[in-house]
Amino acid sequence: MKPVVALLGRPNVGKSTLFNRIIRSRQALVDDFPGVTRDRHYADAQWNDIDFTVIDTGGFLSSDDDYFASQIKEQLTAAADQADVLVFILDGRAGLSPYDRELADFLRRMSKPVFYLVNKIENYKQHDDLAEFYSLGIDHFYEISAEHGIGVGDFLDDLIQTL
Ligand code: GDP
Ligand code: MG
Repeated sequence: MKPVVALLGRPNVGKSTLFNRIIRSRQALVDDFPGVTRDRHYADAQWNDIDFTVIDTGGFLSSDDDYFASQIKEQLTAAADQADVLVFILDGRAGLSPYDRELADFLRRMSKPVFYLVNKIENYKQHDDLAEFYSLGIDHFYEISAEHGIGVGDFLDDLIQTL
C-alpha cells in the first residue's frame, strides 16, 4: 500500500488545483463554484521517485451554509482516517475564516502529521498579509501558488520525507 496524502480545506482554497498539479492530469475537476465538488478523488502521484496516493476532498462546508453538515464531516473524517499525512490548505487571498479555525482544531485531534499551506500567494504584499494565519497556533506555513506552481516543489520535498 502506498502512503496516502489527503488535501483538506474549505471550498475554493485551491485543493483541486493543487491535486491536478501534483498528479499532472485532468482527473480532478477544477471549478469556480464553492461547494460543488463533494466526492473524493484519488490518484497516484510520484515525487523524486517516491510513490504516494493523493486524495482531493470536496471540502466540508456545504453550499447552503449548514456548517459542518454531518455528511460532509463524515467524508472529511473518512478521508482524514485513510490518510497517513494531512495537508490543510488555506486561502491567502480570502484570508482566514472561522471555518479554518474549526478545521484546524479538527485536524489537530487526528494526531497525524499535518502540513499547512497558504495558497494563492503570488506577490510580496500577500506574503506580508500572512500574520493573521499564525493566530491558528501553527508554527510553519508553506506559501504556495498551486496555479503557478510556486512553492509546490519545496512542499513536496518535505512531504515525501514524512512518507
Ligand atoms: P477547491 O474548491 O479547494 O478544490 O478549489 P479549486 O482548486 O477549485 O480553486 C478554486 C478557485 O481558486 C479557482 O478559480 C482556481 O482557479 C483558483 N485558484 C486555485 N489556486 C490558485 C492560485 O494558486 N492562485 C490563484 N490566484 N487562484 C487560484
Ligand atoms: Mg475542488
